[in-house]
Amino acid sequence: MAKPLLERLKDGVVLGDGGYLLALESRGYVQAGPFTPEVTIEHPNALLALHQEFVHAGAEVLQVLTFYASENKLEQVGYGGRLMDINRAAVSLAREAAGEENLVAGNICLTWKFEEGSPSSHDEVRQLFDDQIRHQMEAGPLDFLIGETFLHVGEALLALECIQKTGKPSMITLAFEGPKTRDGKSPAEAAKMLEGAGADVVGTNCWQDPERMLPTIEEMRGAVDCYVAAQPVAYRCTTEVPFFTGQPGFPDKLDPYQLTRYQMGEFAKQALEIGVNYIGGCCGCQGTHIRQMARAIGNRPRKAVSRRGLRRGNPFRPVGAERGRTGYGNRHTKGGGRQHVNQCLSQRCRRSR
Ligand SMILES: [Zn+2]
Repeated sequence: MAKPLLERLKDGVVLGDGGYLLALESRGYVQAGPFTPEVTIEHPNALLALHQEFVHAGAEVLQVLTFYASENKLEQVGYGGRLMDINRAAVSLAREAAGEENLVAGNICLTWKFEEGSPSSHDEVRQLFDDQIRHQMEAGPLDFLIGETFLHVGEALLALECIQKTGKPSMITLAFEGPKTRDGKSPAEAAKMLEGAGADVVGTNCWQDPERMLPTIEEMRGAVDCYVAAQPVAYRCTTEVPFFTGQPGFPDKLDPYQLTRYQMGEFAKQALEIGVNYIGGCCGCQGTHIRQMARAIGNRPRKAVSRRGLRRGNPFRPVGAERGRTGYGNRHTKGGGRQHVNQCLSQRCRRSR
């Protein structure tokens, strides 16, 4: 059985996974704009492969792809009535990819239905969360549940309330489009409210790039005693527009904003240094990034693809030079050809003299 989340966090940092919807959009499996996850039933193999890629890169947790898989969002794209199928399939696929060693996290997110001071909107949001959670729990088992990308602490608290009914550990993360949430809370205030309501892990995900997320999570870290999580986007933001969904390239021309794996690796290293317990990525964060992040926090990503059957040595060497190394004779005398003569730096090479 996989080691539970809270035990892992007690023993050290946990590495999460990356982003799904934008990666699958770029491959033609998700519609840019709605970003609903009907891919779980329409192209399950594409999602399974992405889950497996994250596991291979070193992720310890797979989030089920149920972002925007609430009845109201699914209705907008012609998938009304498929709530159960889509949520259940998402859990099964993550479970299959996670294997025995890794964890699977259920997932709910912002609904765009939350209104401050409106009890009826709160009831509607609760109902949307409860419906998704019920189907995910039935398809389970889930190791814990994540509520993510909330712009209002008020909605995040409703998500926490619904997750707590399952008895599973909870992780609640907010998205910041500026210095405060839409209901006017600073990162520190928001983190304290969530911790006070009993969240096991609090933090931030999406919207901000690493540069802007580090100060946000550092403020949260200083405000609470519970575990904290940070999962930034791997797209560059700017001082003028400090969140990625506000960039002119959003939603489907984001390639020029893509951060390198080394930039995400550097984020992971710095997040670890300031005491972040759960580190992962959100939109734009791919297997390559997670692999580098694993290295940066001292984890060993899984081994590279077996070299058995591959040519030994540098695959970019000229073929003639390669032959010289693999038993066709001394490359300085027989193999190589013209390219070898031009490139060889050996003082003893007879062919280049
Ligand atoms: Zn995201």
